[in-house]
Amino acid sequence: MLKKGMDHGSKEMVEVIKNDYRASADIGLKRCMQCGLCTSNCPATRHSEYDPREMVKMVLDDNHEILDNPDIWNCFYCYTCQSNCPVNNSPCQVNQILRQKVLLKGGKSQRIYEFLAYGYSYMDFGVGSIPSDFFDELVKDFGEDYLQLKLNLEDIREELGLDDYNLKGNSLNEVKNILIESGFKKKLETFKDAVESKS
Ligand code: SF4
Ligand code: SF4
Repeated sequence: MLKKGMDHGSKEMVEVIKNDYRASADIGLKRCMQCGLCTSNCPATRHSEYDPREMVKMVLDDNHEILDNPDIWNCFYCYTCQSNCPVNNSPCQVNQILRQKVLLKGGKSQRIYEFLAYGYSYMDFGVGSIPSDFFDELVKDFGEDYLQLKLNLEDIREELGLDDYNLKGNSLNEVKNILIESGFKKKLETFKDAVESKS
């Protein structure tokens, strides 16, 4: 039987993360027993130096150097770690909160460029989708099939009896207004300025 996990006391970073609105109310951060299951199933770990177990350890140790570690930007929020953690921790949520801390400290990471592209794509089309900025690289990776899918997506969807993928007309305008009124657009612009001023 699995251990319930250790209690890591009340170190500053742990408390900040546990009390962040992005963290689940029952997040098991303090119960992490460093079993490494999250890392063993993490797709980002297979392709980079990113290690969710190590990230959680640094948080538990109140080691703020994790905020300067560029590897935390390799997580892509698939939530596999959260699904598998035996003590209901979510390295994925921990990562999201750490990145926000980095950005609030002054947008140090150039990696937010990729996320800005997703944000602007959301503003333009009203749905989460892969930004056109990455189109050439995806065609390089996936070849002709991907190119044909993208070029004929609307026709394929029509043939399958599906509506347009992107929002249109009033629906799109409503989403755009929400993104403006909620401050989402302003935040994107702030981060964009921060990236450009450092490039
Ligand atoms: S976060 Fe969960 S899966 Fe990862 S090391 Fe801690 S207890 Fe194990
Ligand atoms: S959410 Fe991030 S840390 Fe968790 S498994 Fe996916 S890539 Fe790895």
